[in-house]
Order: sequence, then structure tokens, then C-alpha cells
Amino acid sequence: MPTLDLSGRNYRDVPYEQKERLFEEVKADMRFDDYLHGCYDCGICVAACPSARFYDFSPRKIAQTVSREDVDLFYLFLNDSVWDCSQCFSCDVCPRKNSPGGLITLMREVAVKNGLASAQEALEGYGRVVYKIMATGTQVSPDMLQDNAFPDWGPHVKDISKNLETWRRALPPETLHTTETSWQVDDKTITELYLIWHMTGVMDMIKEVDEGLFMILQDVMEERLEEAGYDDISFD
Ligand code: SF4
Ligand code: SF4
Repeated sequence: MPTLDLSGRNYRDVPYEQKERLFEEVKADMRFDDYLHGCYDCGICVAACPSARFYDFSPRKIAQTVSREDVDLFYLFLNDSVWDCSQCFSCDVCPRKNSPGGLITLMREVAVKNGLASAQEALEGYGRVVYKIMATGTQVSPDMLQDNAFPDWGPHVKDISKNLETWRRALPPETLHTTETSWQVDDKTITELYLIWHMTGVMDMIKEVDEGLFMILQDVMEERLEEAGYDDISFD
């Protein structure tokens, strides 16, 4: 049984075989062997991890759990802790050459591909951001921080947007002083991005967690690809 219940849920009702199947799916990924080489339990990754300072979260526990093949605890983390990671990869300082952040990437992908309710819940507030990035191929620029653009980010966004110019000027690097920084993506690049997201299964993952978002993106992408001469591409 799991030794730690981070979420208030212990998933005792989920059949062990189902948890094990998801664990095996993570291990079967071709990147897995690069991300885990055994774990000294030294905690260096925790010292480097920004998320560990703010959440009840530990990259060491992720690496240990996966190394020990503790399937119950893995399932618990798969439904909770993996969403606390900021994917900065500072934990790659690991002396054993592990990448706990990489393991978390694999776990997130498996959670999304399998449409876990916890993954849908964790990603629920990011639909507009994902739409902006995937439809245009570029980033969310600071001037988009308007309460009417991202209402799902909560009421504080309105306050931030009111004084955005001041907030940006308070940041030290010169390049962050603007509120409009965003790069332009040319037609060839956006076509390539749409094809990559189609061929690598990213669109299938979006479909698992947010069917509404998938349908909107599908319309945008299929139309653009047709214009570029890829009229045989279908995201269905
Ligand atoms: S993953 Fe690496 S840094 Fe973290 S506890 Fe294990 S051996 Fe140490
Ligand atoms: S990638 Fe995740 S686990 Fe690794 S240091 Fe960054 S936040 Fe922590």
C-alpha cells in the first residue's frame, strides 16, 4: 500500500493491474533509460528544485518510487505530484545522471494519453493558453494578461493587467521591460508545427483531455494545412 497520501485520495479502488499498466507504459518509453539510472537517495535534486520549496513535492521521491517500482505510490504521484513540477530540469544536476523532471514528463504524457481525470483537472485552466500557443505557434505575450482574455486564471489577473507596465519595468533584465514581446511565426514554420503536432500524437493527447479545445484547433489546423497543399490530412 502507498506510504504517503498527498492528495487525500489513496486510489485503493483502482485495480493494481490498471496502475501497473500505466507504470509499464512509462517504462516502455524510449527516453526512460536516459532518465533513470538508479537513485542514491541523496536529495541533491530536491535542493535544486524550485517546486520543492513551495509544494509538498520531491523529485527524489519520484526517482525513488520509480526505481523501487512501487506501483501504488507511482499511481498516487501520477495523479497529483507530477502537476507540481515546473519542468525547469534543474534536477538534472543529479550525480547519478537521472532526470526526475524527465520522468515526470513521461508520467504526465501517460496521464494525458490515458485521459486520467486528474490530468483533465490539472490542465483545465490552461485551455486558452494552449489554444494561443498551438494556433499561432508563438508564446503568450504579457500584454495578453487581461481578465477578459484569461478569466480562468482568476481575479488577480485583472489587477496585474492594470499595472502591467509597472510590473514589467520592475523586472531586472532589459528585454523584459516590454509588454508586447512575441516573435512572429512564418507560414512555413506554422505548417511544420501543425504537421509535427499531428504526426507525433500531440493532437490525440489534446483530444483526451479537452475535446472542445481539440475541435477548435482541428478546424484552424486543417484549414491552414489544406491551404498549404496538405488536403489529405485529417485529425479525426
Ligand atoms: S534522483 Fe539523483 S539527485 Fe535525486 S536523490 Fe536520486 S541520485 Fe540524488
Ligand atoms: S524539472 Fe521539476 S522536479 Fe526537476 S527541478 Fe524542475 S521543478 Fe523540480
